[in-house]
Amino acid sequence: GRKFFVGGNWKCNGTTEEVKKIVETLNAGQVPSPDVVEVVVSPPFVFLPVVKSSLRPDFHVAAQNCWVKKGGAYTGEISAEMLVNLDIPWVILGHSERRALLGESNEFVGEKVAYALSKGLKVIACIGETLEQREAGSTMDVVAAQTKAIAARISDWTNVVLAYEPVWAIGTGKVATPAQAQEVHAELRKWLHANVSPEVAASTRIIYGGSVNGANCKELAANPDVDGFLVGGASLKPEFIDIIKSAE
Ligand code: 13P
Repeated sequence: GRKFFVGGNWKCNGTTEEVKKIVETLNAGQVPSPDVVEVVVSPPFVFLPVVKSSLRPDFHVAAQNCWVKKGGAYTGEISAEMLVNLDIPWVILGHSERRALLGESNEFVGEKVAYALSKGLKVIACIGETLEQREAGSTMDVVAAQTKAIAARISDWTNVVLAYEPVWAIGTGKVATPAQAQEVHAELRKWLHANVSPEVAASTRIIYGGSVNGANCKELAANPDVDGFLVGGASLKPEFIDIIKSAE
């Protein structure tokens, strides 16, 4: 079976004081055992060391990005090697905010995923369509192209979690309905089955992101192809614990 996965993407938020409070809340939370749910929180780079060292040992940390290749003369970037050196196990790549605001193409994201995996990082790879694309009926074409750009560059999916995050649902309060999420997740699994392998399709976690909160998580989690969540806004709040609990 696919272990339920809950990621908390803090995005570009937090002060030292706020980070301390969030970690205290997480550390005090009553959650299912790590056999049942894998929990990964992703603070901004500058807070990664303090969060890693103060966070309960059953929760793990992720960076929100890393450079596409070996580090060097790339001012402002953080390399996969650095994350490995700091013992950061996970990285989020291809988030829609980076695709849209920083121009990350499908190919660039695919290269990043392949490089990060090659260095031993585990990757939360994000895909998802805009409202315009959904209304044009091209949701599946868009997410298939995004997934294909990754699949073309990797062979081992063991350390990949695929995060379906429809852009129209991110930070909008307009969560996908359980049926909408299930439909795309099932199509993605079919795509993996046909284009990668039946084994990868069966074992890869496909998680949903976009306006997930403590109130809507249970219904979403009940779907057979929804293997967890990538949570933005609500991951900064105590209700993140409730979202983790939706694993059981
Ligand atoms: P929200 O949960 O704030 O909609 O953000 C989702 C997201 O982008 C997680 O990566």
